[in-house]
Amino acid sequence: MPSPRYTREIPSRYRLEAGRCKGCGKVTYPARTICPSCRGEEIEKINLSPRGKVVTSTVIHVPPDDFLMEAPYAMAVVETPEGARLMTQVVDCEPSTVLPGLEVSLEFRLIRKEGKSGILCYGHKAVPVA
Ligand SMILES: [Zn+2]
Repeated sequence: MPSPRYTREIPSRYRLEAGRCKGCGKVTYPARTICPSCRGEEIEKINLSPRGKVVTSTVIHVPPDDFLMEAPYAMAVVETPEGARLMTQVVDCEPSTVLPGLEVSLEFRLIRKEGKSGILCYGHKAVPVA
């Protein structure tokens, strides 16, 4: 079975659905019910642009079991034009070239097979924009 957390986050994972606080404009992804910055409770749903810039990145050499086949790979915090920050894997490039400021597009990809049953989990991965 996919984990409850994964199932709960499916709408935001599939549609890049985020929340924007009507009080202060803070964008959170996945959407939260209470704004982390002003504690406001009026949150509107927005869809993020499927692109952004790398804010910070790291190269994973010793990954969790489900990702063993892919090491080494780059993980990055990507900020979209709306100001949302997502942690994603950056693919289709040399991991060491993933640096702050890199422009990426967010593409819908297979993330991993979960557990021995091989349930497929999909989500977004970042790909450098040529
Ligand atoms: Zn707020």
